[in-house]
Amino acid sequence: MTARIIDGNALSAKLRGELAAKAAELTARGTQPCLAVILVGGDPASAVYVRNKVAGCEKAGIKSLKFEYAQDASPADVLGRIAELNADPSVHGILVQLPLPKHFDEKAVLEAISVEKDVDGFHAENVGRLSQGQEAFVPCTPNGVMEMLKSIEAPLRGAEAVVIGRSNIVGKPMAMLLTAAGATVTVCHSGTRDLNFHTRRADILVAAIGKPKFVTGDMVRPGAIVIDVGINRLSSGPDAGKLCGDVDFESAKEVAGAITPVPGGVGPMTITMLLANTVESATRAARKA
Ligand code: NDP
Repeated sequence: MTARIIDGNALSAKLRGELAAKAAELTARGTQPCLAVILVGGDPASAVYVRNKVAGCEKAGIKSLKFEYAQDASPADVLGRIAELNADPSVHGILVQLPLPKHFDEKAVLEAISVEKDVDGFHAENVGRLSQGQEAFVPCTPNGVMEMLKSIEAPLRGAEAVVIGRSNIVGKPMAMLLTAAGATVTVCHSGTRDLNFHTRRADILVAAIGKPKFVTGDMVRPGAIVIDVGINRLSSGPDAGKLCGDVDFESAKEVAGAITPVPGGVGPMTITMLLANTVESATRAARKA
């Protein structure tokens, strides 16, 4: 029996419809949600991500402002722009597309964003709040994964969850959210001794590695829920140029109980959660006004 496909496009469409209704309501009351996006340099993948984020905003009735800087831009200019946006009450979310060029101190840039407008949830204060179960902006990709798990009513309490990857933007917050939801979480990384031992006992397996088709069917426990966060562009072979995940979809879907595809899985959900955080931020601002 092949796995149930968790359709990120369909779930996103439903959630974005609800967000558009909320955005319209806020706009009617005088607060149109607004996201400012900063892009530095000409990385083609980053440009595509930014384009998709801006398009997602437009469709949901969220205003977007885009600020583009050359690869050799001065960090002071970008920090100056962030300060302006922090002070502008009509802006509710500020996003700096990562990665930044090497001459930037990425951490300093993320910390410069006001915590109230940090809709990516990367500011250390938001991360700390999240870890303590306080109100925080939840990083979009792991938040999108949680929505996908909710959509299939995945039992989380007591579940064995294995997350491959420990990055600040995916693996770590993913582990935090699954722990908070009651799962028993194991975080694996490049130093993990027997990766297959861990993956094969996972009820929920999240792959956030950045290596195409790394997780194969033999690494998956029969009936497991497999969430593929990876977005990789194949550089060779018959599928060169196409996107694929960190999971070998063809073999994993024969073993898993449910699985997310790439494309059309976690990717669209990430943008949906960014829109959700922006609407949430605007809602908080309207409450204060
Ligand atoms: P990072 O490169 O920051 O982290 C990758 C993680 O995988 C690291 O923790 C690394 O371990 C671990 N890893 C690497 N090789 C192995 C291995 N052989 N065995 C076990 N663990 C390993 O990547 P990100 O977290 O930023 O992204 C992961 C993937 O998700 C990428 O494909 C990225 O494109 C995608 N992504 C998708 C998004 C979406 O919207 N769907 C959003 C963000 C990212 P160590 O720490 O030891 O180096």
